[in-house]
Amino acid sequence: NELSTLMNVPVTDIISACMTLGMMVTMNQRLDAETLTIVADEFGFEVKFVTADSEDAVVEEEVNPEDLEPRAPIVTVMGHVDHGKTSLLDYIRQENVIAGESGGITQHIGAYAVQLENGQKITFLDTPGHEAFTAMRARGAKVTDLAIIVVAADDDVMPQTKEAISHAQAAGVPIVFAINKIDRPEANPEKIKEKLAGMNLLVEDWGGKIQSHDISAKQGTGVKELLEKVLLEAELLELKANPNKPATGTVVEAFLDKGRGYVSTILVQSGTLNIGDYILAGQHSGKVKAMHDERGHNIKSAGPASPVSVLGIDGAPQAGDKFAVYEDEREAKAIATKRTQLQREQSVRTQRHITLDEIGRRIALGDFKELNVILKADVDGSVEALTDSFQKLSTEEIQINIIHKAVGPITESDVLLASASDAVIIGFNVRPMGNARQIADKEEIDIRMYSIIYDAINDLKDAMEGMLSPEL
Ligand code: GDP
Repeated sequence: NELSTLMNVPVTDIISACMTLGMMVTMNQRLDAETLTIVADEFGFEVKFVTADSEDAVVEEEVNPEDLEPRAPIVTVMGHVDHGKTSLLDYIRQENVIAGESGGITQHIGAYAVQLENGQKITFLDTPGHEAFTAMRARGAKVTDLAIIVVAADDDVMPQTKEAISHAQAAGVPIVFAINKIDRPEANPEKIKEKLAGMNLLVEDWGGKIQSHDISAKQGTGVKELLEKVLLEAELLELKANPNKPATGTVVEAFLDKGRGYVSTILVQSGTLNIGDYILAGQHSGKVKAMHDERGHNIKSAGPASPVSVLGIDGAPQAGDKFAVYEDEREAKAIATKRTQLQREQSVRTQRHITLDEIGRRIALGDFKELNVILKADVDGSVEALTDSFQKLSTEEIQINIIHKAVGPITESDVLLASASDAVIIGFNVRPMGNARQIADKEEIDIRMYSIIYDAINDLKDAMEGMLSPEL
């Protein structure tokens, strides 16, 4: 139908041309690239493909080490609710004023950069919690270099603490622990460290390699030292970017402002963004009309690891969408349109994530090496028993990774983690909670529930042998 409009040829003619080629098609069917070329040729047209992922080409461009300069680390703060994530981000925001600048950070733009006394900078994503982190990762964005995980010393290593740890580990992002609320009389930081040690997370005071610092986000105690440890850890990552090229990066947040139109906060990850640049971000594009930083200052250009709020994009891209500067405005617009189309199709497209049924097929094709599993169960004993049995199933061809395991129902956060890591969720004597089921359906995440350990193990085994029947 679309091709018929583009070529101005009756749709029935296109269908019969396809039939001549031996293909039975319907009006709304999508043709692959090869068929499109042949069919168009029949009518004297030449096909030119515009890729929807041109920015990936930019990412893959050859990197010359000489062009690279050190850049600030980008940090996310995660942890259990009420353990002090917001307080920590607020304290850092208020106390760290760029040298010689009066007034702190006044605007909430979704991210901010601070400079320590020694001149080193850190960029924080100002959306506490792992939802934002995982939602971004589910969209394919790798933004965070380092995670601060806040644990309240008057509480315990809680379910969301464990989740945050799993999320960071699944993303391969180093962790620095902030043991918070040490001003409280009940605080017992050593207990937290002991608990972490029990989870195989040895912090430095316990002879391990993981950085950790005792802080009070409320009073500011230890925050400076925490940030120094963050920088130390970041140094090991040798973060670098080339500032002297057109900018690429990721959208942090976007909204419609009644007075100013669409406002998007973006994080420049490589290159430099200038006023007047034409950018493509997700399904939207536009010329950068104005930029301001988290201090409300107008700025003309933004280099690597800088968050900026941008005016001029013709819509609100989603958090986690990548952006890139385009020289050719028309090309950027064409790609934006194409993406909108693809997005529409994707919502009716089948299976995006791995399911147990598909594993056998993929193993047969030889393109499958790892199966990520999220395991939720009613009691600790079952978690351990299933973990053991699943791990024993790993073979030379396929490795089973349990990326997160815990006692409790299947939550939204589990589904988001599954989506970001392409994992299947296995529930033992537990069910999905709240919106988890709806989100799983939307994200096409395979959730399997069992009440007999043997069944769970057998299904996984059968899947790995490619014999799982679709109906279970
Ligand atoms: P979040 O849910 O992790 O963002 O936690 P919040 O930052 O909102 O903190 C939850 C509660 O703990 C608030 O009432 C804070 O005032 C309090 N709080 C956070 N950090 C500290 C701290 O270092 N010491 C004390 N005493 N209270 C804190």
